[in-house]
Amino acid sequence: MLSRAGGRYRVGCGEEVVEASLRGRMKRGRVRVLVGDEVTLVYQEDGAATIEDIGPRRSLLRRRSPGRSHGTRPVAANIDQVVVVGAARDPEWNPFLMDRFMAVAEANGLPIVVVVNKIDLDPGGERHAAPYRDAGYLVLLVSVNVSTGLDDLAAQLTGKVSLFTGPTGVGKSSLLNALSPGLQLRTAEVSKRSRAGRHTTVSAEMYPIGRDGYVVDTPGLRDIGLWGLDAHEVAAAFPELARYAGQCRFDNCRHLEEPGCAVVHAVERDDLSETRFMSYRRLLEEADRATRPWE
Ligand code: GDP
Ligand code: ZN
Repeated sequence: MLSRAGGRYRVGCGEEVVEASLRGRMKRGRVRVLVGDEVTLVYQEDGAATIEDIGPRRSLLRRRSPGRSHGTRPVAANIDQVVVVGAARDPEWNPFLMDRFMAVAEANGLPIVVVVNKIDLDPGGERHAAPYRDAGYLVLLVSVNVSTGLDDLAAQLTGKVSLFTGPTGVGKSSLLNALSPGLQLRTAEVSKRSRAGRHTTVSAEMYPIGRDGYVVDTPGLRDIGLWGLDAHEVAAAFPELARYAGQCRFDNCRHLEEPGCAVVHAVERDDLSETRFMSYRRLLEEADRATRPWE
């Protein structure tokens, strides 16, 4: 399912975009149809298309409200990877913001690609990549303005559903436009096909990009960096810490003030990135405050 406006759902069907509504059973059902869901369409005798069923989900992106310890809301289905974009300069590289966006993707069990855009403004932007490469992530250095690295990024999107996220102003929209020059055309075609006035508030949207790829985009997804995380999610969001955590003196070490912490020692030896470790601590503090607001 590509997007929804009220009770109307736009569903991609090969090259076609079909407008469909929910069938009675689905309407009453407990399962909400999400952007990214694979659905079964049935054409009624009058030619109207209805959604009859939802296919099994490969992944589910869930949102937790900041400051709340439990309760999540599903937002999108079948996302294959999250592309976290930052800028080498303008705005200034912000490791904590990057780590926060990445932590939400990790908490949702989604693979991550890190993109450092605007490399034309700062050829030394490579230094931002190091902590993420060390942690095991794929990092691409790109520039929309001088067309660097765009082929590599396009190749990474092929055949997958991707979510682009990252701080404001880093060039996410510019990247998407550069990677999918046909996007404007396609959008125009779709709105002509369905009757005018139909496309009011689109809550979430998915559109084709590159070769057999899709991008999910919606206002609610652009701010995933503000979604809340719990302490377990924070710990799991820094895979490089796990390399050392097993050697901490205490099994349940949180790598804060505990004696004999192998993670802290690794940071002191420069085997782990200090900025990543600071992000970990800050996110953990936030998670603790959310579950124990009285402190
Ligand atoms: P978004 O908020 O992440 O979607 O960012 P935009 O795509 O709106 O881009 C913000 C600004 O950065 C715009 O003025 C773009 O022209 C500029 N920009 C985007 N990519 C690049 C780049 O690779 N190099 C430079 N120098 N500027 C860029
Ligand atoms: Zn420890």
